[in-house]
Amino acid sequence: GTRRVLVTGCSSGIGLAVAVRLAKDELRRFKVVATMRDAGKRGALEKAAGDSLNETLEIKQLDVCCEDSIRECVNSLPDRRVDVLVSNAGVGMIGPLESQSIAAMKELFDTNFFGLARLVKEVLPDMKRQQSGHIVVMSSVMGIQGLLFNDVYSASKFAVEGFCESLAVQAMKFNIKTTLVEPGPVVTEFERKVYEDAEKMDLSGADEETAKIFREVYLPYSKKIFSSLGQTPEEVAKQTFKVITAEDPPLRHQTNRLYVPMTALKHADPTGRLPLDAFYKMTFKHNSVFNATLGVLRMLQRRAGEK
Ligand code: NAD
Repeated sequence: GTRRVLVTGCSSGIGLAVAVRLAKDELRRFKVVATMRDAGKRGALEKAAGDSLNETLEIKQLDVCCEDSIRECVNSLPDRRVDVLVSNAGVGMIGPLESQSIAAMKELFDTNFFGLARLVKEVLPDMKRQQSGHIVVMSSVMGIQGLLFNDVYSASKFAVEGFCESLAVQAMKFNIKTTLVEPGPVVTEFERKVYEDAEKMDLSGADEETAKIFREVYLPYSKKIFSSLGQTPEEVAKQTFKVITAEDPPLRHQTNRLYVPMTALKHADPTGRLPLDAFYKMTFKHNSVFNATLGVLRMLQRRAGEK
């Protein structure tokens, strides 16, 4: 039969692309409930959905920061049935810690971590009764390996990873699958918003040297990484589709193979020195962090290939 998939954060980016990819499945295996916080922003999704709109894809309002909104949405579905949950809504945050307020950090966690917790609390009891289901979560490679000036964002994705890793064992007992999708850089609104915020960010809380590292080393580096290694949301959607249709989906799936060796550094050295030294050298001991990153990624990939 058809599986009902609820996707969050579908007004743009990866969420939009995942919803459309599933709705356009040639075998029509899915009924997609594409949700967004602000239903007024449905234009781009409607356009991308084309003929699948109101056929295999319907749009509903859902704010992951509001339990009532989640409940109302799930209650509106026949038998409250959700076969696949795609928890995608998320926000980014970059910059020196000294320039960020605790309130803004809490807000980010409210979306990126508590948003997931609220969704899972709502659908898990039904999935357990049905003895089936798949919880798919948009995490990030930064859920495995932290990155300079992404302290709070990375922490929120670590939280997501710990949550799912713990839950997956219990879920398995009820025949419920769990998958963390871990993209590297993806060119979406996310990236644009983050840079826009960074440009107008008040860096006065940080000392001059830190502000300079952020502006002159991190920002240009990060922009270059996005423009050269960034994937499209459609590519991430294609891989998410594969994960959802897989017979035996993995707990983790990285969408960008270039990053696999980088995250593996961490597991290779329990003391943490290896990745710490590598990131330090890349950032501060090399005149082009970008070239150093590419060099390290390629070297690691060659090594992985030799094994
Ligand atoms: P995006 O900004 O295009 O999409 C995020 C969506 O979440 C937006 O539509 C936004 O409106 C929605 N959203 C935010 N708060 C919400 C709330 N309270 N309720 C409902 N929806 C809400 O960015 P994206 O890149 O498509 O991000 C999607 C997911 O992918 C995020 O979880 C992000 O952390 C993750 N991710 C992105 C990248 C990247 O480089 N873009 C990399 C790795 C992981």
